Amino acid sequence: AKHQGKSSYARFAPEMTEVSHERLQMESHMRKALELGELELHFQPIVETRSGNLVGAEALLRWNNPALGIVMPDRFIPLAEETGLIIPIGEWVINEACKAAQSWQALTGRDISIAVNVSPRQFRDPKFIDIVMHALWSSELRPELLELEITERLILDNSIETAEILKQLDAGGIRLSVDDFGTGYSALSYLKSYPFDSLKIDKSFVQDVLKEAEDASLVRAIIQMAHSLGLDVIAEGVESEDQTHFLKTENCDYSQGYFYSRPMTEQDFIHWLETNER
Ligand code: C2E
Ligand code: CA
Ligand code: CA
Ligand code: CA
Repeated sequence: AKHQGKSSYARFAPEMTEVSHERLQMESHMRKALELGELELHFQPIVETRSGNLVGAEALLRWNNPALGIVMPDRFIPLAEETGLIIPIGEWVINEACKAAQSWQALTGRDISIAVNVSPRQFRDPKFIDIVMHALWSSELRPELLELEITERLILDNSIETAEILKQLDAGGIRLSVDDFGTGYSALSYLKSYPFDSLKIDKSFVQDVLKEAEDASLVRAIIQMAHSLGLDVIAEGVESEDQTHFLKTENCDYSQGYFYSRPMTEQDFIHWLETNER
């Protein structure tokens, strides 16, 4: 039934069908992922750069599906975002993350903050603030131990609603940080007008800090600018001792990356906590 060689479309058609078939399959698997308990959070430590002491963790989503194996977020979050599934998935993430952080507090007696990634669609959901407040209330986690990571791209849409939501979250005592800082071609003025507490320097800059003089200058400039605006700086993607040394010299407040630890299951994270007691 297929016409061969008639046009260039014919040649590409089977491939496209395969792609959309995989997409549909992913989508239907993903719809059930929540009910079937296939989602898990992994946790990556965030440390104070100066001392190396743990201050918190970032929650990173993994999808463990019998047919697909462990699926990394870059492979399913965009699809979840498109289909709107990110809203229930994101709600689950916030709830689990708050519960986990509260349990670490109970276990260790220490304040360990939890950073949660928020996608644009989720952020714009009219119920978003209620979902966050409910997660705090039901976990009994103190709001200042929850940090929401919002990408620079989302902020750049710069609507009145964005400003209003950020204001309400800030008023609720929740911490707000700019994720992937430096990748959004930003005008920077939003840093002044929105109630952010910290910014995370994108790992693409951190990784070349010792190889490229420009990246070193950029990172140095970002840290200085952030500090002069009263913001903390978190470097992500820290992989080596040399990078740590550079970040210490430049007074970068916090660090996160494979040099300290990869993201871990909650069980491994608790073990890591107990062996890094301070
Ligand atoms: P992100 O928010 O920028 O998260 C940091 C990513 O860098 C994570 O990838 C982490 O595993 C990785 N990473 C950490 N340290 C290092 C390092 O030293 N070197 C290198 N090369 N990479 C490092 P992951 O877990 O694959 O997550 C990818 C992205 O998926 C995240 O990027 C975030 O945008 C998104 N994501 C993850 N979990 C969630 C979630 O619960 N909700 C939403 N909306 N997005 C999520
Ligand atoms: Ca993040
Ligand atoms: Ca704030
Ligand atoms: Ca990032």
